[in-house]
Amino acid sequence: MKKAELINLVGQSFGRLKVIELIQLPSKHFKYKLKCQCKCGTIKYYHASDLDRTRSCGCLRKEKWRKSYYAWIKDQERL
Ligand SMILES: [Zn+2]
Repeated sequence: MKKAELINLVGQSFGRLKVIELIQLPSKHFKYKLKCQCKCGTIKYYHASDLDRTRSCGCLRKEKWRKSYYAWIKDQERL
C-alpha cells in the first residue's frame, strides 16, 4: 500500500479498532504501521494488511469466550 492510501485509513474504524495515526518505521519491508486504539482503550500497532482480519485488540475474542462459558454454566445449572 502506498503512503497516501495508508493515510486515508487514519480515522477509519475496523470493528472495535480505530486508526489514530500512521507510524513510519525504519524497516525496509514494512515501512508503515498503523497505530490503532481499541474501544476497550488498548493501543496496538498493526500493518495495514492485518486490519483485513483484525477486529479488536483481542478483547472481542476474550468476551466471546466468556459469554460462551457463562452460557455453558447456565446450561449446567439447568440440569
Ligand atoms: Zn480491545
